Amino acid sequence: MSKPKGFTTTLLHSDRLLKPEFGALHQPIHTAVTWGYDDVQGLVDVFQNKTKGYAYSRQGNPTTTALEHKVTQMEGGMATVTFSTGMAAITATVLALIKAGDHIVASSYLFGNTRSVMQTFMDMGVAISFVDVTDAKNVADACRDNTRMVFVETIANPATQVADLANIGELCAKKNLVYVVDNTMTSPYVFKPVSVNASLVINSLTKYIGGHGNALGGSVTDTGLYNWEQFPNITAVLRAQIKPAMLGITQIRKRGLRDGGGTLSPEAAHSISVGAETLALRLERACHNAQTLAAFLEAHPLVSKVYYPGLASHPQHALTSSLFHRHGGLMSFVVDSTIDCLAFLNRLQVVIKSSNLGDTRTLAIPVAQTIFFELGAERRAEMGIPDTMIRLSVGIEDTEDLIEDFRQALEASGS
Ligand SMILES: *Cc1c(COP(=O)(O)O)cnc(C)c1O
Repeated sequence: MSKPKGFTTTLLHSDRLLKPEFGALHQPIHTAVTWGYDDVQGLVDVFQNKTKGYAYSRQGNPTTTALEHKVTQMEGGMATVTFSTGMAAITATVLALIKAGDHIVASSYLFGNTRSVMQTFMDMGVAISFVDVTDAKNVADACRDNTRMVFVETIANPATQVADLANIGELCAKKNLVYVVDNTMTSPYVFKPVSVNASLVINSLTKYIGGHGNALGGSVTDTGLYNWEQFPNITAVLRAQIKPAMLGITQIRKRGLRDGGGTLSPEAAHSISVGAETLALRLERACHNAQTLAAFLEAHPLVSKVYYPGLASHPQHALTSSLFHRHGGLMSFVVDSTIDCLAFLNRLQVVIKSSNLGDTRTLAIPVAQTIFFELGAERRAEMGIPDTMIRLSVGIEDTEDLIEDFRQALEASGS
C-alpha cells in the first residue's frame, strides 16, 4: 500500500474517490428527500442495516456522507455523523447516550450554550459535575460509580484555559468512561483528540472547518477507541444488528440525528465541504497572525493582560506546545482600565465587531457586555472576566494590516 497522503492532499481528493457521476471533483448537492428502489428488497435491506443506502434524508444523504467522510479523515477517526449546528451535535450526543440517573463530569469553562444545555439535561435527571479540567485530578475526584461520560473542550473561550487532555484520556481509559472532546477551538488541523484517547470528537463545522462564516453545521466523530460493547446504554435492538465497533456512532445517528432531527442541509454541507479544503492554509495564517498579534499586545503598555496559549506566559503553554500543531487563532486581552473598551473597539477599522469565531476575518467582541452579560457582574468577577476584556478570533488578513489596526486604535485610545 502507498504511503498515506498529507492532510490537505487527502481532503482535495476525498470527494473524487467516492466516484460521483461524470468524474465530478465535488460531490454534488443532492436535494432529494427520499430514494426510490426498483426492487423493494433494497429498501428493506437499508432499513434493516444490511446494506448502505438511503431511505429518507433526515438520516443523511450522499452530500452529507461525503462531508462526514472528510471529517473522519481529518480527525483520524472511524466514522462521523453531521448535524445542522455544533449545538445539535452536542445535544444529540448526550441525548443518544445518557439516561436519567447517569452522571457526567464536564468542564467548568464550557462554551456558554453548551453549559446552558447541560443545565437542561440536569433538569431532566442527569447529574453533572463541573470541574476545573486543567488538572485531571479534579476529574478523577468527581467520578462516581454512575459516571458514564467526561466532556471537555480543548481551549476554553474566552480565557483560553487548556484541558489536561492526555491525563484525562488516560483516566477515562482506565475507568471505561466515554471521553468527549469538543475540538471546535483547535480544529483537527491544530489538534487531533484521537491522540489523547478521546472516544468522540465534536466539531462546530460553522467555525474553522467551514471557515467562511457562511454555513452552520456540526459533527460527532467516533475515533474507534472506545469499546461500546460494554457501554450499558446501548439498546438491545442495535446490539442484535450492528457490529460492535459501530454501536456508539449508530446509536448517535439513530437516536440523535434521526429522532432528534437536527439534520445538516445538503447546501450547507457543500459549503462546509469546500471550505474544509483550505483548513490547513487558513489556520497556518490565522495562527501566525494570532502569535504575532499576541506578542504585540503583550508588549503594549495599554494592554494589561493577554490570554493566548502561544505565549510563554500562558499557564498551559508547555502543554499546548507538546500536544498541538499550532496554538490556535483564538485569544483574549484586557485593555487598561483607563480605556473605554467600547470606544477602543469602534476605532478598529480592519477588525470587525462580531460574535462568530473561526472566520477568515478577524472578529472582536467585548466579553462582559455580550457573551457573558447574562451571568451578571458578580459571577463575572468570580470568573475573572473584567469589563475591559476583548475576545478575538484572528483571521487570515495580511499580518501588518492587523498589527497596524491595533496600533492606531490603542494609540488613539491612550491620548
Ligand atoms: C460555536 C461553538 C459551539 C456551537 O456550535 P454552533 O455551530 O454555533 O451551534 C460548540 N462548541 C464550541 C466550543 C463552540 O465554539
